[in-house]
Amino acid sequence: MPDFSQHRIKPGQKVDLRKTETDGRSFEPDRDKCEREFRTVREELIELQERLNAESRQKLLVVFQAMDAGGKDGTIRSVFKGVNPQGVSVTAFKKPTEQELSRDFLWRVHMAVPANGMIGVFNRSHYEDVLVVRVHNIVPESVWKPRYDQINQFEELLTQSNTTIIKFFLHIAKKEQKQRFQERLDDPAKHWKFDREDLAKREYWDDYRRAFEDMLEKCSTKSAPWYVIPADQNWYRDYAVCSLLVDILKKMDPKYPTPPDLSDVRIED
Ligand code: ATP
Ligand code: MG
Repeated sequence: MPDFSQHRIKPGQKVDLRKTETDGRSFEPDRDKCEREFRTVREELIELQERLNAESRQKLLVVFQAMDAGGKDGTIRSVFKGVNPQGVSVTAFKKPTEQELSRDFLWRVHMAVPANGMIGVFNRSHYEDVLVVRVHNIVPESVWKPRYDQINQFEELLTQSNTTIIKFFLHIAKKEQKQRFQERLDDPAKHWKFDREDLAKREYWDDYRRAFEDMLEKCSTKSAPWYVIPADQNWYRDYAVCSLLVDILKKMDPKYPTPPDLSDVRIED
């Protein structure tokens, strides 16, 4: 098993995504092995989630960010396959509504954080407010710049309220994105996924890259670390994400509640 902790961004570490690997084969070339071990580790995830849910005293927040076609949906679908849906809440953050825009940017996010016993999954997140919002000047710099600190403080508040946080940036190469868009174009069954706006955003690739780098540098903290997952290969990506979730859940060490003493119970005929 590769040491997936090498993908973690240490607090204060400088990040250059152009020099950060997107190809999972550099870490583990054997696809069959990854797929096999992924299925094994997913069984562990299923068991650990059941314990977390039974214990109901702490929660896990999992954040996914990526460029468009980076594989957020696919990762969530395959990593959480088989996990009891009652113990997982997935929230996809879209363009904010009028109602959301009339509050602070963390309002809608705070509403979606997981409760005790839950794994909360964010498909996009509060980080959009320092990514798309920054790249397209939706608010002035004087508004988005303080958000890195605000986010760190918000995540610290969650941590102190028994939430463990892990954040994944799914890192794909620009040419991989092109290929994925092309596949959506070539296959009529995938046309519904094709978004012309994604092509417009592709032109801002370098601006997004810089925004992602800042996010990773400023907001990878000890208690809420970012991981940059090489995501050109789905099989490496899924295996890495699932293994890191299992590691963190093992550290959380959820326990089944002590069962009550039932020795005196008799069921009448
Ligand atoms: P898919 O991968 O299936 O297309 P998606 O996450 O891209 O899913 P969409 O509805 O296509 O979902 O896009 C959501 C859009 O909302 C994205 O372009 C994202 O950047 C944007 N968005 C999310 N949060 C914010 C925000 N706070 N401010 C402005 N735009 C946002
Ligand atoms: Mg989209």
